Formats: sequence, C-alpha cells, structure tokens
Amino acid sequence: MDERSQAFFRQLLDTPSPSGFERPIQDVVRAWVGEFAHEVRTDWHGNVIAARHPAPNQPSPMKIMYAGHCDQIALMVEHIDNDGYLYIQPIGGFDMQILLGQYFTVWTKSGPVPGVLSRRPPHLLTNEERNKVPQFTDVWVDIGAKDRADAESIVRLGDPVTYQLQYRTLRNGLAASPAMDDKVGLWVVMEALRLISQRNIQASVYSVSTVQEEIGLRGAITSTHSVAPTVGIAVDVCHATDTPGNDKKQVGDTRLGAGPVIFRGANINPRVFDLLESVAQTHKIPVQIRGVPRATGTDANAMQISRDGVATALIGIPNRYMHSPVEVVHLDDLVNAAKLLAEFALAVTPEMDWTP
Ligand SMILES: [Zn+2]
Repeated sequence: MDERSQAFFRQLLDTPSPSGFERPIQDVVRAWVGEFAHEVRTDWHGNVIAARHPAPNQPSPMKIMYAGHCDQIALMVEHIDNDGYLYIQPIGGFDMQILLGQYFTVWTKSGPVPGVLSRRPPHLLTNEERNKVPQFTDVWVDIGAKDRADAESIVRLGDPVTYQLQYRTLRNGLAASPAMDDKVGLWVVMEALRLISQRNIQASVYSVSTVQEEIGLRGAITSTHSVAPTVGIAVDVCHATDTPGNDKKQVGDTRLGAGPVIFRGANINPRVFDLLESVAQTHKIPVQIRGVPRATGTDANAMQISRDGVATALIGIPNRYMHSPVEVVHLDDLVNAAKLLAEFALAVTPEMDWTP
C-alpha cells in the first residue's frame, strides 16, 4: 500500500463517523482528495463528491460514480439517569452480545469522553437474567459520572457513542478495527481517484463518500440523484465465510486475501459485471465472484433504481466479524479493489452501451 494512502486509511479509521454525525470524517476526505480531484463538493445531506474529468472543467457525458459509505454503526444517548448512567439506542444494526464489556467513546461537544458498557456481574444476576440476551434498556454506558448533573455537564442527549476506535495488525497482512465497514470502501473509491489522476481517462469519475448508509442507504439516494451517473459502482464490505461454522452451500466460499468480490445478480448490470471481470483478467487482479439473487443491502441498491436506472455493480471487500469492534480485513483486498476501479474507469469510453 502506498505510504501516504496508508496514512489516509489509518486517519479514516481513527475518525468517528456515526450515521448523521459524519462531518469529522468528511473533513478528512476533503483534505485528502482535493489534490487528486478536479472538483470537490459537499451537498446539504453531507455527501462529499470528488470528480475527475478527462480535462479540468471538461466533464464527459459518460459519468461513472464510485460510492463508499463513510458512516459507521454507533449508539446514541437517549437518557441519563439520576446516578449519571447513560442509556443508549442503536444507530444501525448491533449484536447485543458483542456490546457487553466493551470500551466505548461518547463524542461530545467538548471532545471524546471514555466510557464502558456493561451490566451487573454474573454473581449478581438472577438465573433468568443470566440465560437471556439483554436488551438495550438492560445495559448502560458508565463514564464515571458522580450523578446526573455531573454527566449532563458534559454529555448531551443525542450524543453519538462508538466503540473505542483502535487499529491492530494481525499476522499475514490482516488488520482489525471497528468500522472497517465501510471505511475500507471509502478508502478504495478515493484511492481509485488518486490512481486515475496519474492517467488519461475518457469518462468522468465521481468518487462519493456517502452518508447514512447504515440507516437505509440514504446518502446514496441523494448523491446518485445529483451526480446522475451512467454507471455506478458501490464498494462495501461483504461477509468472508472463511471462519468456522459457515455453510458454504448457502453463503458461498469467500476468503480474506483472495481479492475483492465482484457480485452478480439482479442488482448488477451484466455489462458492467463483464467489463469488471475482463479488466481484472487483463491486469491480473485477483477477484472472487459471488451471486446475490435479490437486491443487495448496499448503496448499489439505491444507485441502481435512481432516476431512469443506473448501470450498477457492487464490489465487496471480504470482512470477518462485521458490525463488531474487531472487523478483520486483508489489506491486499483493498489495494486490489482500488486498482480494479481505476483500470475499469480507464477502460470505459463515451460510446459504450450498458443496455442489459
Ligand atoms: Zn457497510
């Protein structure tokens, strides 16, 4: 991985971006991509759109949009009790059993406030409590406040709470962090623009850092409308199935480090798929193929049914332990996905017909 691009990746992971609270990460994106883009704009929803044209101020009628969502799952402070404990509700999808006993950070107006989330120790639980999965109303975030007034002196209702942001490298090129979903995809679409900026393209490329994907693909809806692309490719994490217990007959065989996944199915334009596959072959970029027999739960779904329909594809970065604080990816898969998107853009000409 290019050294500066790697620093950008780490910066994305170190910056909180709960859905609806994406400004800090969009600041990071704007600061980095400006150098490689012909234009960078932010819409009122908060999406950052960075464009590269065949020449400055000369957009091509053939527009390609790459979308990586910048938001991450998080919690929100809904109630502070008299003892100063914070009660939270989820922003996006959580597995409650993974929350217990974790370090969290409350992102307040005056900065990050450390906290822990737990429940009573096993010795003090009733038999019934011990055997059931707790609900959000059964757990709390403890910031060490003396009482409600003390907590309220720093925390406001509606403040977002994330897992403690922390990056760890594992063996053999693997890395773990909260919110690999989808900071890896965000990194890929911006890295693709950097690679393209050193070459001559015939299409215009719009790399978009979309907001609020985790709560209903919302940023992809608004940004696809405004970019009005011909071709749209979303980059998001997908489940690696190389961990114990997965039924490959049902979920396929997707491995970390074996390349980004190119999806097939109703959510994917077959001509875009064909070009992605042939570009991968030509440039010897390893890829994995996977079928999805329905609409995907990604920005690719919103993109495809925007306006009169967009020729859409989806690239997956294999990910273990999705929506946990220890999401694991292989860094080579990110690098190869960025290469694939860059080579794809270089292969697109204004005359291409994407009619399925
Ligand atoms: Zn995602």
